[in-house]
Amino acid sequence: MQDYLKGLNEPQREAVTHINGPLMIVAGAGSGKTKVLTTRIAHLLASGVDAFNILALTFTNKAAAEMKERIEKILGNSEARNLYIGTFHSVFARILRGEAHRIGYPNSFTIYDTDDSRSVIKTVVNELNLDDKHYKPNVVGSRISSAKNALIGPAEYATTHYIQQEDMRANRPAIAQIYAAYASRCFKNGAMDFDDLLLKMYELLNTFPEVLHKYQHKFKYIMIDEYQDTNTVQYQITKLLAAVHENICVVGDDAQSIYSFRGATIENILQFQKDYDDVKVVKLEQNYRSSQNIISVANEVIRNNKGQIPKNLWTENEHGEKIKLVRTMTDNDEGRFVADTIQEQKLRNHYHNSDFAILYRTNAQSRAFEESLRRMGIAYRIYGGTSFYQRKEVKDVLAYLRVIANTRDEEALKRIINYPVRGIGKTTIEKCVIIANEQNMTMFDVLQQAGTAGFKGSTLESLQNFVTMIRYFQSLLAEKNAYDVAVQVGKHTNIIKELFNDKTTEGLARYENVQELLNSIKEWTESPGNEDGEVGDKSLGAYLQQITLLTDADENKEDSDVVKLMTIHAAKGLEFGCVFVGGVEESIFPSGMSINTREELEEERRLFYVAVTRAKQRLWLSYANSRYRFGQLVQNDPSRFIEEMPDQYIDRSYAGGGARNHAGSEWGSGIERMQRGFGNTAASAEKRYGPPPAKKPSVQKRPEYMPPPPQSKVVTHQPSADFVASDTSQLQAGQRVEHQKFGFGKIASIEGSAHNPVATIQFEHNGEKKIMLNYAKLRIV
Ligand code: ATP
Ligand code: MG
Repeated sequence: MQDYLKGLNEPQREAVTHINGPLMIVAGAGSGKTKVLTTRIAHLLASGVDAFNILALTFTNKAAAEMKERIEKILGNSEARNLYIGTFHSVFARILRGEAHRIGYPNSFTIYDTDDSRSVIKTVVNELNLDDKHYKPNVVGSRISSAKNALIGPAEYATTHYIQQEDMRANRPAIAQIYAAYASRCFKNGAMDFDDLLLKMYELLNTFPEVLHKYQHKFKYIMIDEYQDTNTVQYQITKLLAAVHENICVVGDDAQSIYSFRGATIENILQFQKDYDDVKVVKLEQNYRSSQNIISVANEVIRNNKGQIPKNLWTENEHGEKIKLVRTMTDNDEGRFVADTIQEQKLRNHYHNSDFAILYRTNAQSRAFEESLRRMGIAYRIYGGTSFYQRKEVKDVLAYLRVIANTRDEEALKRIINYPVRGIGKTTIEKCVIIANEQNMTMFDVLQQAGTAGFKGSTLESLQNFVTMIRYFQSLLAEKNAYDVAVQVGKHTNIIKELFNDKTTEGLARYENVQELLNSIKEWTESPGNEDGEVGDKSLGAYLQQITLLTDADENKEDSDVVKLMTIHAAKGLEFGCVFVGGVEESIFPSGMSINTREELEEERRLFYVAVTRAKQRLWLSYANSRYRFGQLVQNDPSRFIEEMPDQYIDRSYAGGGARNHAGSEWGSGIERMQRGFGNTAASAEKRYGPPPAKKPSVQKRPEYMPPPPQSKVVTHQPSADFVASDTSQLQAGQRVEHQKFGFGKIASIEGSAHNPVATIQFEHNGEKKIMLNYAKLRIV
């Protein structure tokens, strides 16, 4: 037997050695799904499958890089470099780099991140003479995004009665118009947003049979990790790609489906067995990651979900420590408690910073943890949130690189045309945009013909100099790599010098950030394979694509000894020795926005399950008596998930707060508490700190000077007269309906979240289909 098979348990080995035909692995957290996927790729390669014929889709680019590394280790060669492995977005972006011209984009298209995309929306809203306070870029953006993920283009959006009705009800009738303008502006800019990477890939495969054929035969073996979180477009694309060879292996855990708000549906797992004949199904039930106590708690909590595939997750690992449930007075105390405990654990159990993760439901919660970690001098890193690549100075340099790679990129162009200041004023820029729109040219075209366009004098000269400079940078592309070009940009534009001369603290930080950016470009150009697996392409385009597609968990160079802070969503698939989950309170976790239906609540519970199962040895759950949220002091009850955890697995304690001063606190330092034998049982904690305070009303009176909190709006839909709205209460299994495209049918079931209900409908002439009700053109008959 090959060495790599030896450590596997029986079902794992069965999955790894299954080579041909569809394979589905449904298994609980930490049972080795990702390990099986990795080993299976190694096994395919060892069995003679060509690496070029394997496509593996992972949840983060980091996971992809780790997989490649492990495969290389197993095989002892560098074949893994030739795999197509990465996230859906990065793999499709890579394919589109070679094919985009077929659908009218430059192959060097720009990828717009959320910021860019919102900025374009704002521009077109203004150009359409609409109010961007009413048509908020975020609101409009998420409507457009949902439409794209449901494969609905602008034309269909505008003619879809139901969608129109919904926009009318929200008093935003012009979204269809904005969507169309946004799509054509992105197209004109030669840019795709994140959703486009999926949508355009689908369009490409659907419109060009020769392209479909090419990739169907290239990707003879397809593997997808975290399959429970694929959405409609992703599902459709992989189904197309796998249609010929049907060597598709999907791996997932329905109990960890946490992206239904982005249109993902657990149904994809159930659907898989219907899509292919002779699906081999493997269940993995032994958990190798966590202690028995952690597994028991996770099992007990998730048991409260009604909709799930029954699984019995067990482990041979030790019972381990009980789960620590910690109540604190305020969120700042919670932060202090976590930092203190990390310090204490490092001393007591010889952990390193990198053994710890602090997980939370919302990004805003990171502040209290950060402050305490900083105060204690503990190195940490936040994943997600405002990332390095979102900082202004970094974005500025990147904008240069984007324009050089793709002059159609108007967003980037507007950002740098007068940075550093070169006498090109706002009016000039606006004029350029207007001319470009009128003449149907790109803004850069206008700059190139600035004289003919009517610019004169010093303005004309500045515009011409700018064009010459960009052309100069472009001339470097032929023989220089991304790093050399970036250095030239920094020097030639004087950006580096300007930042260097700014001796304020912020100026210094900005200078360092640009240096850091250049360092990272250098490192990237010198690394053997790119993050997304492409060998040797060190072009500017390849670099830009790679950084834009970093996911929350990818950011920053790994492996330094830091505590990791991230949202639970970003922690999916990862594992850590010690895990803190903060803010385990009603209205935070479960989120106050997600407790209106069973589906929403169950998704929150799955998220809780994900959080708990990240921990290998130790787990702390904390909740504060009061915290500020939206400028208001709020007192939340402990999360209902806490009540779902049997007492036998947990230790309760109370950590500080109240009328104490910091120096002489009852809380004290980690060592002090260690000597006191901190944190044993609920009883001893109560003896030391007194009983927990009685429940208070959930919201304290707001002091006069504070602004009112934003209304947490729960959007409900009114059904229209002739078409059925997405209000699931109106639709039920068993009803007969008519769909504009698929005709008559009967609803078999309705699933998904309340935000995004999905109906399975058996159509009389079109078979069974999953229909997203938010966009469906359905009528009850
Ligand atoms: P998640 O649901 O969180 O994505 P997973 O099912 O993908 O988890 P892995 O991350 O593959 O699980 O594995 C969890 C841990 O268990 C890893 O550290 C892995 O190396 C280890 N592991 C898996 N299978 C075995 C095995 N047969 N022997 C020893 N360790 C194993
Ligand atoms: Mg995994």
